[in-house]
Amino acid sequence: MNIDNVFKNNETWIKDKLAIEPDYFEKLGKGQNPELLYIGCSDSRVTAEDLMGLGPGEVFVHRNIANMVVGTDANGMSVVNYAVTHLKVNHVVVCGHYACGGVKAAMESADLGVLNGWLRNIRDVYRMHKDELNAIKCEEKKYDRLVELNVQEQCVNLIKTAAVQKAYRERGLKVHGWVFDVHTGKLIDLKIDFDKYLKDIMEIYHLD
Ligand SMILES: [Zn+2]
Repeated sequence: MNIDNVFKNNETWIKDKLAIEPDYFEKLGKGQNPELLYIGCSDSRVTAEDLMGLGPGEVFVHRNIANMVVGTDANGMSVVNYAVTHLKVNHVVVCGHYACGGVKAAMESADLGVLNGWLRNIRDVYRMHKDELNAIKCEEKKYDRLVELNVQEQCVNLIKTAAVQKAYRERGLKVHGWVFDVHTGKLIDLKIDFDKYLKDIMEIYHLD
C-alpha cells in the first residue's frame, strides 16, 4: 500500500462530491445532526457508514474490539452520553460481525496481556450463556452464536445507562442489535426485544 495514494483518493473523493452537490462541504462544515449512534467492531472489514449506505453527517460512530459497551470504559461511555444526551440521536445500534477476532480470542485461553481485561467482558457473556453455548457441538456455530449473544448483552449494557433510560422515557429512543455477515455482506437485525429487556432489568438498574 502506497500511503500517498490516500491523499490522491481524497482529492478524487472531493471532486466526486462537488460534482453532485457544489455546496456539499459548506453544508458539512455547519455541524452535525445524526439520527443514529453506531457502536461496532474495529475490524477493518466492517466499515460503519459503507455497509449502511450512509454518508458523512448521518451516523455518530464508536468502534472498539468486539463492539463492547463497558460501564467502566470512559471513552465508550462518553460517546454514548454525548450522542444520546447532546446530539439527541433516536437510535443506538450495536453491530457485531461473524468471524470477529475479538470474540474468537475470548473463546480461547491464550494470555494476551493488556487485552485480557477487555476480552474478560466477552468471557462474561460466555459465562452468562454457558448452557446454551456448550450445548452447541459445532465450533463454528458456537462462535457465531457468541457473536450474537455478545451483541445482545452489549444492548443490555446500554439500557443500564442513565442517558439511554432517560432518552427512552423522554423521546422513545430505541436500541438495536445487528450482526454483519462478512461472508455475504448482509446486515442482520437480531430483533432484540428492547421493551422486554427494559422491563426485565429495570427493577435492578432503574435510574431516575
Ligand atoms: Zn470484530
